[in-house]
Amino acid sequence: MTRTTPPRPVDIEAVFPELRLHVAKATRLHPRPGSPAPTDSSVGGPLLWPADEPWLVCAASHRKSRGELLENVRRRRRILEAAWARLGSDGRPIGPTDEERDELNALNKRGNYAPELADDAEIPMLPVLQIFQRDIPGLEFPDGSDLLQILWCPFDAHGAEKEIDVRLVWRNSASIHEPLSMAPQLKVVGRAGYVPEPCLVDPEEILEHQAFELLPEDLQESLEGWEDWEDEDAPHYQYDLSIAPGWKAGGFASWHLTGPREMLCDCGAPMRLLITVDSKEWDNGSLSWRPVEDAGNPAYGLSKPTQVVVGRAGSLRIFVCTLDASHPHKISEQ
Ligand SMILES: [Zn+2]
Ligand SMILES: [Zn+2]
Repeated sequence: MTRTTPPRPVDIEAVFPELRLHVAKATRLHPRPGSPAPTDSSVGGPLLWPADEPWLVCAASHRKSRGELLENVRRRRRILEAAWARLGSDGRPIGPTDEERDELNALNKRGNYAPELADDAEIPMLPVLQIFQRDIPGLEFPDGSDLLQILWCPFDAHGAEKEIDVRLVWRNSASIHEPLSMAPQLKVVGRAGYVPEPCLVDPEEILEHQAFELLPEDLQESLEGWEDWEDEDAPHYQYDLSIAPGWKAGGFASWHLTGPREMLCDCGAPMRLLITVDSKEWDNGSLSWRPVEDAGNPAYGLSKPTQVVVGRAGSLRIFVCTLDASHPHKISEQ
């Protein structure tokens, strides 16, 4: 199903024409649960992977035996889905039964589920995102590639920063003659939020305006003077007019938690925002970005279709070098 971003509540470029110098195209991915095939662009779906190429693994030393059973994470989601789909006589969801609550509690337990796994054992990385260039014409791919695959280790304990380990693979899909039929399976994950629900995507190109703090100072002042914080319903630059929430390709990065950081490649070149992974597609503060098709739908978890939770329920952004996308990428969380 198509997803459409509503028109912005105000044409801010008509108010401040100088904002036209601070725009970028972004492609909202609009992931929604489905059954993607390896030949589809997807979140958490099967990757188009050459059968004769080893799968990516995490061999870093961290506690891989302890966490949540992947099958429990999936079972829990199915129970919640069914529970919240049942409506009471008032037409509202009634939620889980006592029996379901007991089962959910049992499934919720963290434990030493894979004692056979040493800290430095190799575990398969989880597919996070697969994008075919044909679906996102606005996204720049390195020469010779038309397929981007992103995987991560479902534990957040890599390096001194205890960061999540994210890997990027650029491919030429035409060179894959014999695709892998089944990816290696993980048993234990560090956090349920690192397990994406299989989703199809429905890319939509939109226009974003630069993050408030990165605009010229006089423009910041003009916008501040224009914003009406007394009126609850008045649009705000940061929430409604600059950067879209949710999973997206390209566009601007928001720096609302840390303030702006310059992302530089180790080669010295500036980096560009490639992909944003978000814990939600919208929330109460960014309701104006909720797709037209989702308005008025009371379904449970509608704004969190991927069930991915990164950082403090924020977003994870992947940056690549503007000179050469094959240089090591960098990540940043907000
Ligand atoms: Zn790892
Ligand atoms: Zn570089």
